[in-house]
Amino acid sequence: MGPFEVLREIGKEVSTCERCVLKNTRKRAVPGDGPVDAEIMLIGEGPGFHENEQGRPFVGAAGNFLNELLKSSGLTREMLFITNVVKCRPPGNRDPLPEELGACAGYLDRQIEVINPKVIITLGRFSMAKYFPMGKISIIHGQPSWMKGRLVVPMYHPAAALHQTNLRPVLEQDFSRLSEWLSQVRQRQASMAEPSRATVPIKKDLPKPAEPSSGLPAEEPTQLSLF
Ligand code: URA
Ligand code: SF4
Repeated sequence: MGPFEVLREIGKEVSTCERCVLKNTRKRAVPGDGPVDAEIMLIGEGPGFHENEQGRPFVGAAGNFLNELLKSSGLTREMLFITNVVKCRPPGNRDPLPEELGACAGYLDRQIEVINPKVIITLGRFSMAKYFPMGKISIIHGQPSWMKGRLVVPMYHPAAALHQTNLRPVLEQDFSRLSEWLSQVRQRQASMAEPSRATVPIKKDLPKPAEPSSGLPAEEPTQLSLF
């Protein structure tokens, strides 16, 4: 299966998934939207009323604001993959429960693996917690971290800014840096693909591991991590 088929297969599985109780109250599951080669991935919390009706992410009021944010940063939705940490609507828009997050996590992990985005933006605290379990959004929003060769950036949820208008300029400011972060990752990946500029010693140049003295196999020498 090629990447496109893999992504479509994940979507099919999600649409009939019965792994948690959210299956009982959903109208439509919302696997996510966007091209399989998207360089940026946005991860929200979970479908709301309109998403549950339409089976697509961020199509309600928060989605309209998200579109505005993207437009002002020179991007369009078609350039991104947009999804959520839970794919079915929690009834009454309650917070997703730990067991629901746990049951659903595999779908998101597979989506990330096949899309392999250069930049991941988490929107709101539940998707932030996937990468920054102890993070405080008021402190770490808009701060990129290198993880597995990509940048992960936590941001406020657009819905929060609909209630707290003082968060609007904060989100606008954070979103305005998206293209800059994307360029950073592109540059880094290009420089790593260029052999003459590699800075990691190749294995044969590393000292041989010490002879095992305990009868256990010696550990492989660890390569310097670029991240
Ligand atoms: N809020 C979310 O977190 N996700 C959606 O898809 C819509 C609203
Ligand atoms: Fe399955 Fe996720 Fe929907 Fe639960 S929320 S039923 S795990 S797709």
